[in-house]
Amino acid sequence: MAKALLLLSGGLDSTLAGKILLELGIEVEAVNFTSPFCRCTPKSFGCLAARAAADALGIQVRVLAKGDDYLELIKHPRHGRGSGMNPCLDCRIFTLRRAREMLAETGADFVATGEVLGQRPMSQRANAMALIERESGLDGLVVRPLSAQLLPPSLPEQSGLLDRGRLLAIQGRSRKEQMALADDYGINDYPCPAGGCLLTDPEFAARLRELFTREPDCGLDDVLLLSVGRHFRLPGGAKAAVGRNDNENKRLEASAKPGDWLLIPNGDASGPTVLLRPAAPAQTEKDSEALRQAGGLLALFSRGGRNGTGIDIGQTPVLAGGARGSAASRPGVRPLDADEAESWRVAGKVGKSAKAAELRKTGG
Ligand code: SF4
Repeated sequence: MAKALLLLSGGLDSTLAGKILLELGIEVEAVNFTSPFCRCTPKSFGCLAARAAADALGIQVRVLAKGDDYLELIKHPRHGRGSGMNPCLDCRIFTLRRAREMLAETGADFVATGEVLGQRPMSQRANAMALIERESGLDGLVVRPLSAQLLPPSLPEQSGLLDRGRLLAIQGRSRKEQMALADDYGINDYPCPAGGCLLTDPEFAARLRELFTREPDCGLDDVLLLSVGRHFRLPGGAKAAVGRNDNENKRLEASAKPGDWLLIPNGDASGPTVLLRPAAPAQTEKDSEALRQAGGLLALFSRGGRNGTGIDIGQTPVLAGGARGSAASRPGVRPLDADEAESWRVAGKVGKSAKAAELRKTGG
């Protein structure tokens, strides 16, 4: 029996691609690649949508993380970017290369995807698809069941492994045909199309651009931090992230790495958690100034800090292995000037004066 290695995102298109192949009697195994830029994936649990889709199809799925080599690609794409920081062509080449490396191990004859011709402007044009196939070393070995009849016949179609006549000819951005197909197959529970990963989000893209410019050697942990809280680049180069709610406060605490500082309100005072990531190299004077400014940010975003009395803050260094050092108390910390804080904000500068007024009024 022929076997396909399916790139399964958990969305409707890749689920349908799997279903079509199964209906043709093809054995299907799936792989899902998570990245720091997935929109909806709790990283520690892998991709829940892909697991649910695999369960619905009755197939195995492996969830694999894209790591540091993927980050290098995002920093230096060879084929340009889309509207944000999304290098879709390089991303697809990277993903298909990883899939190609799995062909022998899984015993699959070809790779299948849920791509639809003309659905995405950058990576799903016919010539882009051809380029991606070529550069990933999978020339002729990528089958796109939803659009196959509109594309040159793949090797499995040419060899008779797959009946081209039973593959489809869907194209364009409308999802009507896929939804009708889902109805026919009884597939009811699928996530809405996300419209690209976080790299396509204008605010996230602006934060990432700033990070790459200021910290070209940044790692995945710096990138992961970008999607949590309000971000400020302090004048000495340190980065401060301020939680916007309990969930973000917890996420900031969990994101802290050795060398960072965590600032939280002491005792009964309420306010956000601030994660301070000092600029390298460490310098006592510069770092103490950054700690002073991070405390001022915490006060600015807390009611106690803004009502004139100041706020008591505990600041804790994060040590090797993530252990917490001894917390030092700073009583009566006063808020930073809202305009000054706003001038340090990363990717929040649209309507700057209005933002500063809002900061003054609400603390963000
Ligand atoms: S939108 Fe993001 S995940 Fe999708 S191809 Fe582009 S860069 Fe890759």
